[in-house]
Amino acid sequence: MLLELEHISKIYGDLHAVDDLNLTVPEGQWLSIVGSSGSGKTTLMNIIGCMDTPSKGTVTLDGRVLNDLNAKQLADVRKNEIGLVFQKFHLVPHLTALENVMMAQYYHSVVNADEAREALAQVGLADRAKHLPGELSGGEQQRVCIARALINCPRLILADEPTGNLDEHNEQLVLDILRKQHSQGTTIIVVTHDTAVAQCSEREIMLNHGVLVGERWNDEQARQRYEAQGGLPASTGAHLEGVLADDQTIQRITKQ
Ligand code: ADP
Ligand code: MG
Repeated sequence: MLLELEHISKIYGDLHAVDDLNLTVPEGQWLSIVGSSGSGKTTLMNIIGCMDTPSKGTVTLDGRVLNDLNAKQLADVRKNEIGLVFQKFHLVPHLTALENVMMAQYYHSVVNADEAREALAQVGLADRAKHLPGELSGGEQQRVCIARALINCPRLILADEPTGNLDEHNEQLVLDILRKQHSQGTTIIVVTHDTAVAQCSEREIMLNHGVLVGERWNDEQARQRYEAQGGLPASTGAHLEGVLADDQTIQRITKQ
């Protein structure tokens, strides 16, 4: 498995933002994490993306137990293995699209304008390289972020509400980029509120108040591959007390 979460919890005082989650994700899988606001999706993404540490449990990425790594080693994993896409674009306003993409490379210690141009071309923005973020539409800005996430050829793309601020046309463009990455073998984990976006993935898990409340597969072949690899359903040791299925998506998942 590329990613293994064992009994992961993130606890703030009395609040269990993520509550005892077990989840494995093999290389090449496209997984969605769905759930209403405050259900712990971003907290979980931050833990997987080496930007936060769990209060309990272990995370193993590509055979390395992240709990054992120091801050520098975690930063290296993040730079070398993970491409991050956020709902808010986090572009540097006074840098051009090309320079924003090159920034990612800077952190990766190689600054190569040709590779950055190639990444922009991959997301259909070759002709916008010299534009500042303020001169780009929301959809174009999000595609610059995706180009920035793709530049290091990450094995794992983590996208937190990547289409949350986009109209339908731009949502489709972003989904097309994710589909292409997935077809090339990249593992993708997407947090989304959007049923249409979730349905593009092979597998969905649902959180509510930090607790796993459902799992469903959208791709039967992917499920069979996963099970043949010994993959288990996601699970939780947490109790569902007080966790109500208050969302149609949960019904969609649990009806299955
Ligand atoms: P989602 O992304 O699903 O909307 P989050 O992961 O952002 O949910 O948050 C889950 C819960 O954890 C929320 O109740 C949120 O208020 C809480 N939370 C997140 N980060 C912190 C923090 N740094 N300190 C305290 N509570 C937090
Ligand atoms: Mg969030």
